[in-house]
Amino acid sequence: DTHFGFQQVPSEKKKGMVKSVFTSVAHNYDVMNDLMSAGMHRIWKDEFVDMLRISPGFEAGSPAPKVLDVAGGTGDIAFRVADQLRPYMAGSPAGKGTGEGERGGEGEVRQDGAAADAMDSNVPLLTVSDINPDMLEVGEQRAADRFSPEILTNMQFVQADAEALPFEDNSFHLYTIAFGLRNVTDVDKALREAHRVLKPGGRFMCLEFSRVPIEPLQKAYDWYSFNVIPTIGQVVAKDRDAYQYLVESIRMFPG
Ligand code: SAM
Repeated sequence: DTHFGFQQVPSEKKKGMVKSVFTSVAHNYDVMNDLMSAGMHRIWKDEFVDMLRISPGFEAGSPAPKVLDVAGGTGDIAFRVADQLRPYMAGSPAGKGTGEGERGGEGEVRQDGAAADAMDSNVPLLTVSDINPDMLEVGEQRAADRFSPEILTNMQFVQADAEALPFEDNSFHLYTIAFGLRNVTDVDKALREAHRVLKPGGRFMCLEFSRVPIEPLQKAYDWYSFNVIPTIGQVVAKDRDAYQYLVESIRMFPG
C-alpha cells in the first residue's frame, strides 16, 4: 500500500490530485529539481534533447521539424529544443545564445527555405503543452525572459491534456514527453494521441525514471527517495505530500 493508495483511486480523482500537486509546486519546481537530483536532471535533459538530433539538418531534405513537448511544465525540454531549432527559425541569427541547453558547433543556418517550409502547417515550430495552467505560466514567463521576440514567434504555449490533444492529425515530426507520462491517468490514451498527432515516420521520445538494475543501489535509492525527497519537499516547497506523490508515482510506473 502507498501513502496515496494509487492503485485504488479512480481516474478522475488521480487527475485532480496530479493537478493540485503541480499547482502547489509550480513556483518551486525548478529549484526543487536541482536540489532533489543534485543538478543531475540537467544532464538527463541535455542528453535527451541531444538524442532528438534536431540540428543541424533534422533529416536531409526534410522541412523544419515541428516539435510538440507534452507535459512541458516550466519549459526545461522545450527551451533546449528551441536552442536546437534556432537554425530553422526565420530572422534568428544562429549562435545567439540563451545559456542553458546551448551546445557548440551546431549553429549552422539552413539556407534552403526551411523557414518557408515551416509555414506549411498551422502549428509553429515548437509547441509547449501542459494540462496545468500554473506550470505553463511559469514556463511562458521563463521563455519571455530568455528568448528574443523572433524566437518567441516560433513558439506557442497551449494548455492541453495529453489524453485529448487539441491538434490535427499528422501535425508534428517529434513528440517529446519528459517526466510526464507517469502523471497521465490513461497512458494508452495518451500514447494513441501521440500517434495521431505525429506525422508518419515521426518520432515519440519519452524521458522517465526507471529501476536501478543493481540491487544495493536500488535500496539506497529507495531510502533516499522515501526519506530525503519528501523532507526536502516539506522544508523547501512546504508540501511534503506533493513530493511523496512524486516518489510513489516513480515507483509505480513501469520500468
Ligand atoms: N517536462 C517538464 C520537465 O521535464 O521539467 C515537466 C515535468 S513535470 C514532473 C510533469 C508535468 O506533467 C506537470 O507540469 C504536469 O502538470 C503535467 N501533466 C500531468 N498530467 C498531465 C496530462 N494528463 N496532460 C498533460 N500534462 C500533464
